[in-house]
Amino acid sequence: MSIKTGIMGGTFDPIHYGHLLAAEECRRRLDIDRIVFVPAGSPPHKTERRVTPAEDRYAMTLLATAGVPEFSVSRMEIERKRPTHTVDTLREFIARGTPPGDLFFITGLDALLSIETWVDYMLLPTLCTLVTATRPGYDVQGLDSLPERIRDNLRLVEIPEFAISSTEIRRRAGDGRGVRFLVPRLVEAYIESAGLYRNVEASNMEVSRQ
Ligand code: NAP
Repeated sequence: MSIKTGIMGGTFDPIHYGHLLAAEECRRRLDIDRIVFVPAGSPPHKTERRVTPAEDRYAMTLLATAGVPEFSVSRMEIERKRPTHTVDTLREFIARGTPPGDLFFITGLDALLSIETWVDYMLLPTLCTLVTATRPGYDVQGLDSLPERIRDNLRLVEIPEFAISSTEIRRRAGDGRGVRFLVPRLVEAYIESAGLYRNVEASNMEVSRQ
């Protein structure tokens, strides 16, 4: 029996209710059986700010998804000792038994719009169905300029409630406004106890752990 698997790829710095809602909505609309959250280990493209250590982002993702039978978290990209590329992650899922026809790679619109900079991006449509979860009001016109092979393979899922962003959460945690009701309670407690995002500067979102 085939098991449709959605890979939820992202930096998850931190994971929030928007991600959880997006994962669930994609699961339901595309009839996906299970969603595997794959926090990016060493995002090859993040130069604008320091990213929170992978183990913290992994721990928060575990806490956020605990107890949801259809959700799990993979350490695949975190344990890769080199920059993580989606093509390698998809190949690893396929090598472990999920055929490309049952594999969905779900990520945000911003990330997807830069797909032409990703390693071996033209191979991705042969390895999975690409899914992009969008926030209301996002301009999706940029997708028109992507290669036809990518556009033909792409599924767009608008998530009406997906208004929360990790950037806003880091800002709120940094200036003491709190993140209650934006992230699961256990993630909020983790952010507090680990001292994450305390030194976020509004201008450059620099992150440090105390
Ligand atoms: P990101 O910073 O995590 O997210 C970019 C945007 O998409 C943000 O607005 C983010 O919202 C949203 N988002 C993130 N994950 C989402 C998800 N699963 N569903 C819906 N929205 C989501 O993106 P990124 O670090 O560029 O990477 C996203 C994925 O693309 C990762 O799996 C990464 O490994 C992959 N990628 C691969 C390559 C490559 O192969 N060379 C290059 C770039 C990216 P929040 O800010 O609220 O999270």
